[in-house]
Amino acid sequence: MSRPKLTRLKNIRFVVSLVFFVLISLLFLDPWNKISPEFTNYVVALQLIPALLKILFYTGVTTIGLIFIILLTFAFGRVYCSTLCPIGTLQDIVIYLKRKINLRERFQYKKSPYIYHYLLFILLTIFTVAGSTTLLNLFEPFSNYGRILTNTAEPLIILTNNFISNILGDFQLYFVYVIPLRKISLDILAIPILFFALIVYMSYSQGRLFCNSLCPAGALLGLISRFSIFKIVINETACNECGACEKVCKANCIESETKRIDFASCIGCFNCIKSCPTSGVIYAGIKLRNASTSLVVFNSSRRNFFKYNIIPVAVTSLPVMSITDTIGIQRNGFQDARKHPISPPGSISIEHFKSLCTACHLCVTSCPTHVLYPTLFDYGIDGILQPKLNYDASFCNYDCNICTLICPSGAILPVDVPSKKLIQIGRTHFVKEDCVVIDKKKECAACAEHCPTKAVKMAPYEGKLKLPELNNDLCTGCGACEYACPTTPRKAIYVRRNSVHLQAIKPDVKKKEDVPEGLIEFPF
Ligand code: SF4
Ligand code: SF4
Ligand code: SF4
Repeated sequence: MSRPKLTRLKNIRFVVSLVFFVLISLLFLDPWNKISPEFTNYVVALQLIPALLKILFYTGVTTIGLIFIILLTFAFGRVYCSTLCPIGTLQDIVIYLKRKINLRERFQYKKSPYIYHYLLFILLTIFTVAGSTTLLNLFEPFSNYGRILTNTAEPLIILTNNFISNILGDFQLYFVYVIPLRKISLDILAIPILFFALIVYMSYSQGRLFCNSLCPAGALLGLISRFSIFKIVINETACNECGACEKVCKANCIESETKRIDFASCIGCFNCIKSCPTSGVIYAGIKLRNASTSLVVFNSSRRNFFKYNIIPVAVTSLPVMSITDTIGIQRNGFQDARKHPISPPGSISIEHFKSLCTACHLCVTSCPTHVLYPTLFDYGIDGILQPKLNYDASFCNYDCNICTLICPSGAILPVDVPSKKLIQIGRTHFVKEDCVVIDKKKECAACAEHCPTKAVKMAPYEGKLKLPELNNDLCTGCGACEYACPTTPRKAIYVRRNSVHLQAIKPDVKKKEDVPEGLIEFPF
């Protein structure tokens, strides 16, 4: 490639990374649900770790995205890290701001902490293969970025939206509507905030250190890039040893003294190419590298240890589960049922969900009824931050399948709306003595009125009073009855999860109640 074309690489990278950064951010900052699931799918298909997980169970646009990233890395190295990864661009923004504050700030070659990075990567792979995503959830860049936005920036947007809505309401203008705000507990909020602080600290003090010490995508791509066809190298003949390339290398991977580049650590920012006054830093293909002894790439024999450790993230077959998870649930076991989180339709089983969800919270931010909530340890320590259906806050819309369409990791697999309407994620349980009809001798039919499949019907009880009657074969576990039930502190009707999702019987509903988008206020 000619010199002018090479120097243009940095500008192209800058524009592409900015475009992806904005697009990915918008997915998590859309409380109005204006972005279509199809568009979301195309954008998230290029996120390495979620795509790797998803391909185990589903092939589609994600598969093409994954193949593209792998081929790109085999051809040109870790371009993903510099252009497609949102945490990568976030680090670049911090580095850029730091340079604005301290104009003399320069990078310097540092040996990459390979041993620790790959040990972490191997540990993380073993955990993931064994079915625990804990480590993956803590370090995977896309999910961490998603959580930062979903739990910190999106609530701010909603507050601003609601503030504007209230002001406009005073002037009888109602085109901006109020959006319900999810309550997030401090312990759940603490993790994205701590991660954000860590990223700012690491990139401010040592450039792209996160990419070369903690990031699982970085470790995997570092291994692949060892075999890249084109590598950034220093041409000894052209190099005048000015050290300009080392000073701008945010991955600290250029040792200008020895004229070596550690390409496995190079995140493909192309700063070095642009900074070199003598065209001494070039992209060289295998042929050129083999033909010329004056092209220098880093080749530490220590790293050969990892040569055979490209471990694909593979999940063993899912364990056989019991049909329903009723263990420990007593007759009045509302609280016990709440201790067993319900996973979204399309997630097949709790085990499938837990072993693949990277807790990116894209489903949380996209769910129009806001029934999906992040949890801390509701699924256990190995299900850290994974979302559940929270019927205290809302219910799962019978006509909606958004989360099944947008989940990038395959934790929730795509299902069309007719199929989704037959997925039974849980079954209802009715506690007569807690029901308003028996307890207060008052009429109430909230649960039956809001059940979309008529799995709950009112049957004659005493005089004019009617009592709910269940047909769990029709129940989908959507939680509409539980959410509508007015009893406190326990709900008289509530959903117990199915550890393995089942199929409900198709209801004979002639005219279903329309359920508008957004949170619906029940009459209680
Ligand atoms: S060697 Fe350093 S400066 Fe050059 S592209 Fe790689 S990370 Fe960027
Ligand atoms: S289930 Fe939700 S939080 Fe988990 S990976 Fe899928 S979209 Fe992200
Ligand atoms: S299917 Fe249910 S849980 Fe999923 S996004 Fe729609 S309403 Fe939310």
